[in-house]
Amino acid sequence: MTDAWIPFSKPFRAPGELEYLDAVLESGHTHGDGPFTSRAARGIESITGSPHALLTGSGTHALELASWLLDLGPGDEVVVPSFTFSTTAASIIMTGATPVFVDIDPRTGSLDVDAMEAAVTERTRAVSVVHYGGVAPDMDRVLAIAHTAGIAVVEDNAHGLGARWAGRSCGTFGVLAAQSFHATKNIQCGEGGALLINDLALRPRAEVLREKGTDRSRFLRGEVDKYSWIDRGSSYLPSELTAAVLTAQLEAFDDVQKRRHAIWDAYAEGLADWADASGGTLMSPPAEAEHPAHVFWLLAPSRGSRDAMLDHLRAAGVGATFHYIPLHSSIAGRRFGRTPAPCPATDDFAGRLVRLPLWAGMPDSSVERVRDAVVAFRPAAA
Ligand SMILES: *Cc1c(COP(=O)(O)O)cnc(C)c1O
Repeated sequence: MTDAWIPFSKPFRAPGELEYLDAVLESGHTHGDGPFTSRAARGIESITGSPHALLTGSGTHALELASWLLDLGPGDEVVVPSFTFSTTAASIIMTGATPVFVDIDPRTGSLDVDAMEAAVTERTRAVSVVHYGGVAPDMDRVLAIAHTAGIAVVEDNAHGLGARWAGRSCGTFGVLAAQSFHATKNIQCGEGGALLINDLALRPRAEVLREKGTDRSRFLRGEVDKYSWIDRGSSYLPSELTAAVLTAQLEAFDDVQKRRHAIWDAYAEGLADWADASGGTLMSPPAEAEHPAHVFWLLAPSRGSRDAMLDHLRAAGVGATFHYIPLHSSIAGRRFGRTPAPCPATDDFAGRLVRLPLWAGMPDSSVERVRDAVVAFRPAAA
């Protein structure tokens, strides 16, 4: 019997998408900053509690805006975890500043706060906190260290829509935070993102940088009678078509999250005995970190057994994956970044990581097949 392939991820389809897309096409307002852009932004604000969200073309664009808004430049340093997606660091080097790579805490997959503290120098301007799988590090400590050092906190909250730390929403701790609505994220519009602006003093300049360096946003609100080029900038806004899909997706947020959490819980429960018996480790966030069921990860018993485990799962039709070649050892990371201390936890985590399929439309039968395939894996005797 050949079982159908279970993909690692499958973009969610929200009920209102076609109706909203049609409304945009009929209205003739297909360019950015129309009614669906504000509906989606208000939706993001209501989920996160951030005072202001600006829609962007991607999470990467939101991170780029954050770098420009902090006025980073050559000689400046930003502390980032080595275990993250490339754009956490690429959005820093674009300004000429240097990402400084630090280790992660294997319990969360996110920044090791001690390593962050040790990496701060007189050149440090900011720390970019990535909530891996929406599991935040100790944000009270991050904020206290940043305050003492006089540096800004930015959150790469691409995984963390709906996540909290000690009851407070991820994406509201930093002066700025980036959300992603890429096809692989819980809420998706193909390519899309948002910049959360928690320090409203940054809002006027953020609008200019996002609108090709012009004050067009103020013009559209009737605050100036013409608009012109006043600062650096690029085209960081999505079209209304993208915003229409995103609006429909955000309206389905509670349903998406309910289903994803049910799948996450089924994995945690169904794999606990396997982990005990095999020496594998299951994702198990600390109590303060409320995760948004964006990923379910496990660590294979050893680095040697990880690839065998992925092969075993794929042979069973399960699209399990791993990701993130640690940035401190990547080609660009070595060229553009600085790594003040070894990152053994990152190397171990990245070498043993297995991510299981998790998407809102996933049927129970697929969840059970994934679980059974993991349970059937026996690492070869050493
Ligand atoms: C997805 C992701 C991004 C970038 O988002 P895009 O919308 O694809 O540009 C940044 N950081 C992390 C950790 C991500 O997972």
